[in-house]
Amino acid sequence: MRAEIISVGTELLLGEIVDTNAVFLSQELAALGIELYHRTTVGDNAPRLKQALTEALARVDLVITSGGLGPTNDDLTKETVAEALGLSLVLDRSSLEWIEEYFARTGRSMTENNYKQALIPEGGVALPNPKGTAPGVSVRKEGKWVVCLPGPPRELIPMFRDHVRPLLQAESQGVIRSRVLRLCGMGESVLVKEIADLLANQTNPTLAPLASEGEVRLRITAAAETVAQAEVAIADLESKLRARLGRTIYGVDDETLEAVVVSLLQERGETLAVAESCTGGLLANRITDVPGASAVFDRGVVTYSNRSKAELLGIPATVFERVGAVSTEVATLMAQGVRDRAGSDWGVGITGIAGPGGGTAEKPVGLVYYALVGPGVNLVREARFTGDRQQIKRRTTQTVLDLLRRTLLP
Ligand code: ATP
Repeated sequence: MRAEIISVGTELLLGEIVDTNAVFLSQELAALGIELYHRTTVGDNAPRLKQALTEALARVDLVITSGGLGPTNDDLTKETVAEALGLSLVLDRSSLEWIEEYFARTGRSMTENNYKQALIPEGGVALPNPKGTAPGVSVRKEGKWVVCLPGPPRELIPMFRDHVRPLLQAESQGVIRSRVLRLCGMGESVLVKEIADLLANQTNPTLAPLASEGEVRLRITAAAETVAQAEVAIADLESKLRARLGRTIYGVDDETLEAVVVSLLQERGETLAVAESCTGGLLANRITDVPGASAVFDRGVVTYSNRSKAELLGIPATVFERVGAVSTEVATLMAQGVRDRAGSDWGVGITGIAGPGGGTAEKPVGLVYYALVGPGVNLVREARFTGDRQQIKRRTTQTVLDLLRRTLLP
């Protein structure tokens, strides 16, 4: 089966909102093995929407629309779909009852326009919307199939999962499954060399590297008749990659580096405290994004000035005079200082120059020292990152989390 997506909304064309619905639907269709060759965005304009629908229906069997199902006059998706298919709109009793109930429940009064929401193209099926008033619609005519979904993602996502995916699953042949391996501590160019033979001549599963801030992702995608067969094909390639890349792989799919670090600390029953300068609390922020971090994370202090490093971490003023705040020595004293004060097992210290100002020939922008102290461990490293302020902050935390992860691994 081939499909197209049409996103409806002038806000999308103005760049006021990002089309996350199209991203979601694309991923879902790919997972179902449904081929998607075009995605279109149109404003709230009936003639242009009709044109987009007509063109899409000439190319494929299935068109999914998002948006334009609301009660206002610029919400015109259903009317236009009916027109493009040459169908009239009819009242759907169950949708009307649902909308009436919804208004009674929320204590608001219905307007004439809300009745409009209960109209669907003749022969279509209304898709219930527990999160809002606008029902979706699935309508078929002469081998062509149009599915209309509401714009708000909190309505579109459950409606797709509960009502549309099962219909698509029943019709599509075969499945596509994918798994993402996440790697840290190896650049994309080195990785591509390491696995050159696996990247060459790949057909099924396919393997695609994707570099992003401080890490590389490897997406394995397999097409097969059943989910089980696809999973076997993925697992086979994954084990070859693991044998070759070892500890460089830190997680799969949506797993984050910080989540891996938190769970390693949990397994070990150990605690962590961090002292940050140039990262301004980003490391603590990332760690505390992980549910359950409170069991292992004692504190994070942002010591930006020399005075705060002295007051909160006990670093003598003479050290700054002698070696400067951005130095291996200060990074180590920060890690030790915060660890001692917290009484934690592990301490991290980070000091560097995030730019754009403040760099010198000897200590350029992007120079970062980070230290990790813990049971039998006393490490300090230098890194030179490129990028703007935010990128340097992000890359620093990524590198520190990776050092922690590698040190904590059994
Ligand atoms: P409603 O019943 O809320 O009126 P609707 O189907 O008419 O739903 P729109 O009016 O087109 O939907 O959009 C409502 C809101 O949904 C937008 O303001 C936006 O926040 C969100 N939205 C719409 N389309 C998208 C999209 N493609 N991706 C992400 N969010 C979207």
